[in-house]
Amino acid sequence: MNDTEPVAHPPVRQPIPIVDHRHASIVPSVPKQVSKPARLVADRMGRPLHDLRISVTDRCNFRCTYCMPKEVFGKEHAFLAHRDLLSFEEITRAARAFMDLGVRKIRLTGGEPLLRKSQERLVAMLHTLRTPDGHPPELTMTTNGSILARKAQTLKDAGLDRVTVSLDALDDTVFRRMNDVDFPVAEVLRGIETAQAVGLGPVKVNMVVKRGTNDAQILPMVERFRGTGIVLRFIEYMDAGNSNGWCMNEVLPSQEVVDQIHRHHPLHPLEAHRPGETAQRWAFDDGGGEIGVISSVSRAFCGTCSRARLSMEGKLYLCLFASHGHDLRALLRDSPQAGRDPVSDAQLRAALAQIWSRRVDRYSELRAFQASGALPSERKVEMSYIGG
Ligand code: SAM
Ligand code: SF4
Ligand code: SF4
Repeated sequence: MNDTEPVAHPPVRQPIPIVDHRHASIVPSVPKQVSKPARLVADRMGRPLHDLRISVTDRCNFRCTYCMPKEVFGKEHAFLAHRDLLSFEEITRAARAFMDLGVRKIRLTGGEPLLRKSQERLVAMLHTLRTPDGHPPELTMTTNGSILARKAQTLKDAGLDRVTVSLDALDDTVFRRMNDVDFPVAEVLRGIETAQAVGLGPVKVNMVVKRGTNDAQILPMVERFRGTGIVLRFIEYMDAGNSNGWCMNEVLPSQEVVDQIHRHHPLHPLEAHRPGETAQRWAFDDGGGEIGVISSVSRAFCGTCSRARLSMEGKLYLCLFASHGHDLRALLRDSPQAGRDPVSDAQLRAALAQIWSRRVDRYSELRAFQASGALPSERKVEMSYIGG
């Protein structure tokens, strides 16, 4: 190469400072008519309320470049104080109200959920809840797996059904670069194996694919987990939050992921387990198990989205890309300054039913319009705050 030839540089990461939505407060109104308990609500698009994701902490021991870039979540970043977090009792009370309205599946997430002390106590409390027809909720957790090997057995004993572990590469160098805290891949693999051994399965492994960063890891990951009973799922890199400097060029559409795998290990499509499932499922022709792809960017699935998200300080978000939350903590706690008492269970249920029944969110379906400037775009809440 001579000196005048242009040199191709890798894309420069340009994290963007976050706007702090955490203290913004929309206190939900409680409908006057609460005598008849609302059951099985649907939103304005007819979508039921089926899944609840509870983010239990905004802290994390990783600094994944696509989620909590170090430049933004550095030493100066102020995480929430413990008193601002919902207590386990408050979380359980809110979860009970959600279950009365249709929630059947609860996922604990974060930040890194296993960093919150005594997480197994929360699991045990949620495990005692029952749907109106007497069933316990399906209880799952998404974790970075860093301390899972230590925690798996107590979580299982407390009533956790399954775990999903996030793992973006098998190659130690690539993995350490992506978690950006030099965390070794071997420890996460140990967590996955322990989870499987204690019966937290079928264990799912989520890999966020960034073109040019870890796409060369797709096949090694497939070959590592094929035939093990572990379900590997590929997630399109999303424009979640505002801090990761997201750009479309770094999104590898799921179809390309499937094509790449199919060339080496032929695949055929599988039916969804149920409507509203985020992943499209594919099985290996030779019986080596299945993989999933989550195409939140290239193939929006808002039409069946039945997920509500509760942040660690009690804000309810109706979409992963929402910019406003509904402050349930204000309903769960008394506030002498505001002259408020905690609401009754019936009032809480009625307030939730009202919020869900007004829901119109469908960000992914509208993403293209926002990108073109045809719709106004608002600052979104961060992924590490609201969970995946
Ligand atoms: N710390 C836990 C973990 O990493 O599994 C739970 C919280 S994390 C926010 C939940 C999921 O969101 C992870 O699987 C992570 O890979 C995914 N995630 C975070 N930022 C993302 C982005 N910009 N695009 C796609 N997935 C993302
Ligand atoms: Fe932490 Fe999970 Fe975000 Fe990575 S994806 S920084 S592990 S919260
Ligand atoms: Fe659900 Fe929002 Fe994702 Fe659409 S963009 S699938 S409404 S979380």
